[in-house]
Amino acid sequence: MPNIVVVGAGVSGLTTALLLSKNPEYKVTIVAKHMPGDYDIEYTSPWAGANYLPVSNKAGSRWEKDTWPELERLARDIPEAGIHFQDAIIYNRTKDAQATTGQWFNELLSPTPWFKSVVPNFRIIPSAELPSYADSGSVFTSVCINTAVYLPYLIGQCRANGVVLKREVLKHISDAASLHASGSKADVVVNCTGLLASKLGGVMDKDVIPARGQIVVVRNTPGAMFTVSGTDDGDDEVSYIMQRAAGGGTILGGTYQKGSWESQPDPSTAIRIMKRAVELCPALTGGKGIEALSVIRHGVGLRPLREKGVRIETEKVEGVTVVHNYGHGGWGYQGSYGCAEGAKELVDEALKPKAKL
Ligand code: FAD
Repeated sequence: MPNIVVVGAGVSGLTTALLLSKNPEYKVTIVAKHMPGDYDIEYTSPWAGANYLPVSNKAGSRWEKDTWPELERLARDIPEAGIHFQDAIIYNRTKDAQATTGQWFNELLSPTPWFKSVVPNFRIIPSAELPSYADSGSVFTSVCINTAVYLPYLIGQCRANGVVLKREVLKHISDAASLHASGSKADVVVNCTGLLASKLGGVMDKDVIPARGQIVVVRNTPGAMFTVSGTDDGDDEVSYIMQRAAGGGTILGGTYQKGSWESQPDPSTAIRIMKRAVELCPALTGGKGIEALSVIRHGVGLRPLREKGVRIETEKVEGVTVVHNYGHGGWGYQGSYGCAEGAKELVDEALKPKAKL
């Protein structure tokens, strides 16, 4: 029976372990420095919104496209996953086309994106219904994930399939091969280390950098999710609102600061985030100012950005077969099932002679 060690317990590691564990032949152990329940600047997944706003172009759409059906199923049929449906309202300002966020949201802002036939109820917003600052807009049914519920849900699903979880801090990716719960050497190691893939021995991927996201979590309820293509407060500031399922609060964002490892929320950035949010959705405070926001907490997460694209590939490192699945930037949840499927295909391929597939 093949032994597999997955390194990482963020959304990428847990989803990959879950899909692998569905094959009863595979014995899966997860090892990670951080687990659900931890809030740490080195651990991105708890900080995410998280919703489904596709950002890949048509050519690279496989990961996000293949993820939608599972997120839709979870929102529809599995209340304990902590995911619900919400309308996503996208406003586009033509002047943001060349800005960092305008580029990042290029496909999202298109009137004919690839995902218009994937998500339900996609439609263009008539100009009479747009706010004065927006040149165009669209709306569709999306989902919002309460990460504080969903990550433990994934753990539960993994454990039900016999996955063992262990706390370990690795210096080198090849060390993972000796950490399988069986005591035997792992046949394959799956690397889901997110941003720390830039610092882990045997990987040291210098293309992986943080894209810092500062957020404010509030109790106020917007009734829908809102995103705008850019802000007038600087190229690395963004404006979005999403209400998490199951009492998870509402996330107000944010920033997209490439290369910044700063872990502490900046107070003046927080004020700008809140001001933009009440302008974007006056219903959030019943038309009042930011003093009417009920703040739960301020936070910072670092998106594991790899500008040349996510790394899903197999590599031999010091004699150990390693399948990589890292570098998801700001779309790790909305691409989680597609990427985990891709990583699982590579594991299946690497184990072909050994497993009865
Ligand atoms: P992580 O969650 O960082 O997990 C990495 C794991 O690897 C951890 O368990 C860590 O301990 C482990 N690890 C690393 N190095 C070692 C080591 N040496 N030894 C042992 N263990 C190690 N995505 C969306 O899809 N939709 C959104 O709406 C969205 N909103 C976001 C908003 C913000 C503010 C932020 C910050 C991110 C957002 N994202 C969103 C992006 C998403 O959060 C990330 O893409 C995703 O969480 C990355 O997950 P990961 O599992 O790859 O990495």
